[in-house]
Amino acid sequence: MNETVDGQAAAVPGGGAFAPASGNAGGTGAPGGTGAGRRSRPVRHVHRDVADAPFIVIWEATRACPLACLHCRAEAVPERDPSELTTDEAVELMRQITAFGRPAPLFVITGGDPFARPDLYELIGRARELGLAPAVSPSATPTLTADGLARLREAGTNVISLSLDGATAARHDDFRGFAGVFGRTLQAWQQARETGLKVQINTTVTRANLMDLPDIARLVRDRGALLWSLFLLVPTGRGRSLTSLTAAETEDVLNFAYDIAETVPVKATEAHHFRRIAVQRHILHAHGADHVTGLGLGSLYRTLLRRAVHSGLVRASRTRRPPIDVSAGRGLVFVSHTGQVSPSGFLPLPAGDVRERPLTEIYRSSPVFTALRDPDRLAGRCGACEFRTVCGGSRSRAFALTGDALAEEPWCSYVPGSFPYPQELARLLRRA
Ligand code: SF4
Repeated sequence: MNETVDGQAAAVPGGGAFAPASGNAGGTGAPGGTGAGRRSRPVRHVHRDVADAPFIVIWEATRACPLACLHCRAEAVPERDPSELTTDEAVELMRQITAFGRPAPLFVITGGDPFARPDLYELIGRARELGLAPAVSPSATPTLTADGLARLREAGTNVISLSLDGATAARHDDFRGFAGVFGRTLQAWQQARETGLKVQINTTVTRANLMDLPDIARLVRDRGALLWSLFLLVPTGRGRSLTSLTAAETEDVLNFAYDIAETVPVKATEAHHFRRIAVQRHILHAHGADHVTGLGLGSLYRTLLRRAVHSGLVRASRTRRPPIDVSAGRGLVFVSHTGQVSPSGFLPLPAGDVRERPLTEIYRSSPVFTALRDPDRLAGRCGACEFRTVCGGSRSRAFALTGDALAEEPWCSYVPGSFPYPQELARLLRRA
């Protein structure tokens, strides 16, 4: 599986991340007098009430995939499961998604490899007829051909996501478990763009590829992409075997991502404290304060930043894309290949079955979802944190590492109450 397309998840079995460049999201508002346009909105919020309708629905069309990616949430298998949603059941799922009303949620078809389903093009066409705009997260397998991409486009897909976890074939292929995947990914990227498809690139951040990040960013900038999604590992599925970053390293990586966001359209997935960092950096900038000292950034940040500057990735040449305030169960919902509903592909808490109960009902009233939408239910540092309404931490990672989806985010080093501009922060969050 890949990750989602932001706003739409990419091909991560478990929910990749597809994100819209724009869409039904608005800004938070900012402290007065700092910047203009999107610069004045450190975080975007969706216009609709996330308790009423999700911003994005991710459907795992199948778990079948011939790859063996190290981080795979779905622990994908070569063969399709006979209990997958049928074509008719998948169309019924789409009808349930349209029942959320307008604007329709983003709809991402992920896997496994969606190309493993022979009805993929038919399903895209049916989604289009129902008023949905399906994005697809294919795996870089031999089925990912120029012809297949053209047929995706003809059927009505506008966006796909591809995974790129290294800047070299050696790094990426090692992660994906097969030789040749890197080359096929670059080829598909080019072919997709020639076909008229927008491409989101998803990168899973691990200790193994930390130093590749500036080079991957350069590839994204040079080859062109709708979005670069940095996915912070959730140790679930096969991802349990990968070495985690420390909380301090995570801060360094997310601040590097913030710095390059004016030349590369970056987003962070399962890294909700990126929103806290965006708010902090916005306020520190307004005060002319040094963020390296103010946020206690370390040597990893300095190294990544130096390499990013060397590659021309840090300059105020375009508008920054603010992170969007959506998280598992709160704007995002995942439907498995068998119709099981959970808040995210990385948060396997069962909340219902679309074969038995409408998705609208499950999303709006399941105790699993309502708990995740209540910031006052958070525990530990997240529960005491002044940023919890705009961040809240990764519920998926908290669950994976502690067994409690409401526990504190294990990869955040922020000490609640320590940010030195509480009044400005409170004013900004009130406007959100
Ligand atoms: S403590 Fe929790 S809510 Fe606060 S910034 Fe960290 S992850 Fe976000």
